[in-house]
Amino acid sequence: MSQNLPRTDLLDRLAARTLAREHASLHRRLQVIEQVDGPWLVRNGQRLLGFCSNDYLGLAQHPQLIAALKQAADETGVGSTSAHLICGHRREHAELEDVLAAWTGRERALLFSTGYMANLGIQQALLSAGDLCVQDKLNHACLLDGTKLAGAELKRYPHVDVAGAARQLASRPQAAALLATDGVFSMDGDLAPLAELATLAGREGAALMVDDAHGLGVLGADGAGYVAGQGFGQHEVPLLMATLGKALGASGAFVAGSAALVDGLTQFARTFVYTTAMPPALAAASCVAVRLARSENWRREKLQALIARFRAGAAQLGLRLANSPSAIQPLLLGDADTALAATQWLEARGLLVTAIRPPTVPAGQARLRITLSAAHDEAQVDRLLAALSELPQGAHRPGHL
Ligand SMILES: *Cc1c(COP(=O)(O)O)cnc(C)c1O
Repeated sequence: MSQNLPRTDLLDRLAARTLAREHASLHRRLQVIEQVDGPWLVRNGQRLLGFCSNDYLGLAQHPQLIAALKQAADETGVGSTSAHLICGHRREHAELEDVLAAWTGRERALLFSTGYMANLGIQQALLSAGDLCVQDKLNHACLLDGTKLAGAELKRYPHVDVAGAARQLASRPQAAALLATDGVFSMDGDLAPLAELATLAGREGAALMVDDAHGLGVLGADGAGYVAGQGFGQHEVPLLMATLGKALGASGAFVAGSAALVDGLTQFARTFVYTTAMPPALAAASCVAVRLARSENWRREKLQALIARFRAGAAQLGLRLANSPSAIQPLLLGDADTALAATQWLEARGLLVTAIRPPTVPAGQARLRITLSAAHDEAQVDRLLAALSELPQGAHRPGHL
């Protein structure tokens, strides 16, 4: 028997940490959504107008997506029955990969079951111990986790600070390096300085990776995303990742780039190799989502008009919005209690806008993450603005932080 102190009980420790979160107003609870109808949700029997989904184009319940899902399920069943490299890679997946590569202007694309897994797999395939990964401080959690999984050194730079990124790269000029950024930042809605980052990556010999989860479908002439829309091809941004669970209204993710990249990931990305392929019916529905997202420009135009209307209204009210041209329009509130109180206050008025608290965002930057969708109409945006105008006076106005 060991002479040391008794072991820590892991479940007790977890319970203690959970309790600490509760005391700090940072505890999270699942809420069951009983029904969905466009932007409307039913929860606890209450009908709420939602401004928190990522269904930016209003495609998640589109009859053509549903019909494609049903038809493909009739033909192929529900599950893919295995990993892609065994016998799970179906015609529907191959077609979706081709469609995504063509849309984003890349040679090839490779499907992953989720964006989280894509970001883990890319980095784990590319990076080894001793390599360097330089990332924006506000990158999505799974980009940060990917570096940890790969065992590489993670160095972060202040948000959108290209000089900061340059300093981090220069700190280890000999190391093989990945420079990774969100295209549209998921909690702030603002944009990465792509041109400057591409120049920096080129100068430093680092590979540039952009996570365009919130740009795909929303930005670019035919919705090809922030990266492709700005004219950045495979040469400037060799690693483009995006998801199917946001503007496309489906689920899953992909990496697009050169044929050599896709071949390499197919060998070495463990989150691709050792997992069940997404249901083929979901791939079929995603193909339809891409077609609609490309062709139905009115969805993007309507979304942009609603964003402009919301921002103009919020400016008139003196609300503290981030500098965001995207569908993500965070209202900064400061501490977690204020954000929670605001959420509850809006809920009592029939609006669902979730509070985003640390550790998802930095301490002191709790917020309402308001998201807009082509599924909303002007009257609904006005209703949100009217409710926000009556938010109890306090932290949401400049000078009160
Ligand atoms: C949502 C999101 C992911 C994760 O994608 P999932 O398909 O939901 O796992 C990755 N990166 C960013 C920037 C995201 O917003």
